[in-house]
Amino acid sequence: MKYTQLDIAPTISSLLGFEIPDKDGREIEEIRVYCEDKNIDQILLIVVDGVGASLYKKLNGALGQFRALSEEGLFFEIRSLAPRITTPNVGTILTGYTPEHHRLYEVADTFYTPVKSILEIASDSGIKSGIVIELLGAKAMLNRVDLAIGVENLHGIIDYDRRITDLALKAFRSEGIRLLMIHLRAIDNCAHHYAKAWDDFIFSARTIDENLERICQGLCRPTLILATSDHPIHVEKWAHLENNNTDVPLIASYVNAASGPKKGE
Ligand SMILES: [Zn+2]
Repeated sequence: MKYTQLDIAPTISSLLGFEIPDKDGREIEEIRVYCEDKNIDQILLIVVDGVGASLYKKLNGALGQFRALSEEGLFFEIRSLAPRITTPNVGTILTGYTPEHHRLYEVADTFYTPVKSILEIASDSGIKSGIVIELLGAKAMLNRVDLAIGVENLHGIIDYDRRITDLALKAFRSEGIRLLMIHLRAIDNCAHHYAKAWDDFIFSARTIDENLERICQGLCRPTLILATSDHPIHVEKWAHLENNNTDVPLIASYVNAASGPKKGE
């Protein structure tokens, strides 16, 4: 059976050695096997906003660092869940529950929910966890994880993603975080706000790829990177880029600080 977004959280929990109660997803066996002979100190979960499997293929040339990681590691096309909008889908990725089960439909829902994400369960189990996302989302996670950093989009989305990247590296380096989730938004933001032509998507994709490259070069300890997306493009004008495909990509790749894959190699 095909893997889905429900399976990411159970895979992470199994790698880090804790349980998600009543989960709807299952562990991705191939990732467990891939990690068996590797010494993984920390896990970075990167959610790239709004890139389905078909768009990902079309952007291939602009995503050299993603390609390098998937060639060194594993690549899956996994099923995304309805409603395919950011908050419920990030909720699914972080909990391993269906939206009907976690009921996180708007950011406001994340403030008082009794549902725990893998970040909170990890933290409760003594594994330092953190999140670097937009300000309101981070506020909701404050005091529920070891580190919740909120970033405001003050100077445009490219600057926003770049600051998220810088803070992610800092979280690993200075705070001893072992499980971190970040959300990079340039491509989705482009689709919603400024895309006039295909070149605009290429441009946004390149900026995200550069951030991934900086992450790979800046990590100090052996890391499992899991990179995925919350939903395919949902802006009607550009939905044709996904060819009616509702899958999203999932990359699992080991980056050893000393010998991480470099694009173009
Ligand atoms: Zn989104």
